[in-house]
Amino acid sequence: MTEPPLPELEAERDRLYAQLSAVGDFRRGSVSENYRKCGKPNCACAQPEHPGHGPRFLWTRTARGRGTVGRQLAAREVEKVRREVARHAEFAAVSERIAEVSEKICEARPAAGTDAPPVREGGKGALRRDRAGEGRRDRPAGGGSGPVAGLR
Ligand SMILES: [Zn+2]
Repeated sequence: MTEPPLPELEAERDRLYAQLSAVGDFRRGSVSENYRKCGKPNCACAQPEHPGHGPRFLWTRTARGRGTVGRQLAAREVEKVRREVARHAEFAAVSERIAEVSEKICEARPAAGTDAPPVREGGKGALRRDRAGEGRRDRPAGGGSGPVAGLR
């Protein structure tokens, strides 16, 4: 498990940031195409083979705490919004790679004031053992079911 040296990782991160800023306008969510029956018995759409009124184009996305939000799109903006939605996937992918490279940089960069190399395999094992120990101390003596039941 040999990672590239720090300057190489930093160069890679710079490249990714440049890629990120080149993504351009993007938006989350998706574009859907809907047809609907108006329900009037005399309307053409009441015929079984009629697809319904439409198409109606909607841009929707999931908003934190508000469920699905969105709005109807004018026909002339549908292609533009589709491109913008596609760019969000690109933004997310590059953003994820930046996070990965940045984590490697964090691991490779020594703490300030020391020349010590980053801690390798042996140190990681020791850290896991420490965490496991803390976890055991945090759990109640009578088993985990008490607090979980309390949450219901
Ligand atoms: Zn109708």
